[in-house]
Amino acid sequence: MKSITIAGVTVHPGEHKLVRIPVARMPRGDTLELVVRAVVGLHDGPVLGLESGSHGDEAFAIRTIHEVLGGLDPTTLRGAVLGLPVCNPVAFETFTRLTGIGMTTDAVNLNVVFPGSASGSLVAQMAHAIATDYLPHLDALIDFHSGGLESAIDYTLVKQSGSPVSPRILELSKAFGSDYLSITRTEPDSVSSISELAESLGIPAVVAMLGGSVTSGDDKVLARSVAGVHNVMRVLGMLPGAPTRNPRQAVIGDRKLVRHLQGGVFIPAVGFDKLGAVVPKGTPVGSVRDANTFEALEEYVAPFDETILIMIRGVFGRVFAGDYAYIFGDAATAKPA
Ligand SMILES: [Zn+2]
Repeated sequence: MKSITIAGVTVHPGEHKLVRIPVARMPRGDTLELVVRAVVGLHDGPVLGLESGSHGDEAFAIRTIHEVLGGLDPTTLRGAVLGLPVCNPVAFETFTRLTGIGMTTDAVNLNVVFPGSASGSLVAQMAHAIATDYLPHLDALIDFHSGGLESAIDYTLVKQSGSPVSPRILELSKAFGSDYLSITRTEPDSVSSISELAESLGIPAVVAMLGGSVTSGDDKVLARSVAGVHNVMRVLGMLPGAPTRNPRQAVIGDRKLVRHLQGGVFIPAVGFDKLGAVVPKGTPVGSVRDANTFEALEEYVAPFDETILIMIRGVFGRVFAGDYAYIFGDAATAKPA
């Protein structure tokens, strides 16, 4: 395996090293950095990127990435794994999806500004650092997303543009092993997210949406996530053994993203134990009421005869109009993957 040089730091075969990519000088005088945890194997093979935290509150995969990297043996690994657990350290600090409370920035959502710009807003500069010092090293990427503090999610988003990389994206996405895949048609030349930029560079990306803060204490979800990475690595030939298939895996035909249309106090009617479950049409899942008068503002119910609860908001709290509420899948139109 060849050595890999990231931001001027070389990681040699057999090494396990942290590399810091400088982004910008912060007001207090220190440097905003992105930290890559790199394991380079002794044997030839592809370079896999494991990246999360483009949305600051989607922190679940930090555990997955470190669990995978901590378990790798560079003497037997074929290829290399480059972990980037915190793509947006500013949003991670505030533990918010978006960047920059009180900051002057033109863009707040890191995952819509790729490839970024060295002379753009701070968020664009983070994207530029990822685009120039991280992505070009990769042969494949897993882009992790999850719920935040109040939600949890469980599916894999498969972007299919018809580009030469599309079949590999589908193959690796299946290998991650989620019960549900949702296939989204995208334009090959439209790039705004990290996964789309990767595709435009010929790098297949799996967009894995799994867990949330609430599942971080659930060892089964962590184990599934780690097993998904290991299975992708087997397809890539980085780990020994044949990849396995999830016999329950299905492609969802119809998927419905529901946002809250009015702000207020949110009262859940189902808990996170129902994540991934199928419930009948009309099942109440939550409501929003006026916090002062307790007037009922919105009621959410399962929309399909057999509704898969793909994303759940499950914690009592306040919501804004426009916040994500649920993602529902139609089990009747789901087909075996
Ligand atoms: Zn996200």
